[in-house]
Amino acid sequence: MLIPSLDNLVAQLTRLPGIGTRTAQRLAFHILSVPAEEALALAHALEDVKERVRFCRDCGNLTEEELCSVCTDPRRDRTLVCVVEQPVDVVSLERTHEYRGLYHVLGGSLSPLDGVEPGDLRIGQLLHRVEQGGIEEVVLATNPNMTGEATAAYLADRLRDRVRVTRLASGLPVGGDLEYADEVTLGRALSGRRPA
Ligand SMILES: [Zn+2]
Repeated sequence: MLIPSLDNLVAQLTRLPGIGTRTAQRLAFHILSVPAEEALALAHALEDVKERVRFCRDCGNLTEEELCSVCTDPRRDRTLVCVVEQPVDVVSLERTHEYRGLYHVLGGSLSPLDGVEPGDLRIGQLLHRVEQGGIEEVVLATNPNMTGEATAAYLADRLRDRVRVTRLASGLPVGGDLEYADEVTLGRALSGRRPA
């Protein structure tokens, strides 16, 4: 468009997942058309999340404090830990209202081909949490795709003789992400979990 600042905004928006050039252009023109304070509210929101949000010390979930809202909630069942790949999976599982335990967010899944080894995920911290005692069951809720299954198998091998290990029941769309499973399916997978 040869308007450097506008071109730059379009270029930045294009880097977001699912945003093509035409959508980016539409968004950029929209941002340009709204009052300055409205557009700046978006800029401040971006600054804010990058500045404030960090990982929970105990579980790896997102928080603005040292510990996340799940870990600090006295009503949660501390004998139960659900292992997920990403913080977004916590949101999906919370939406089902089926789960009252704690979480452990790995930060990804094992994928040797992409160079993701056990040391790159919060696996050591999980083993440490289990070793500290008090946890009676670990629910493996990694994604039902190849790397998620490989991660679940790896964790089950390491945890099986220390704690009860279960896996979400089948019924989840194979190859998909938990993020895209509907609440009912996910809730059912959770309540119907089986030994891993
Ligand atoms: Zn936490």
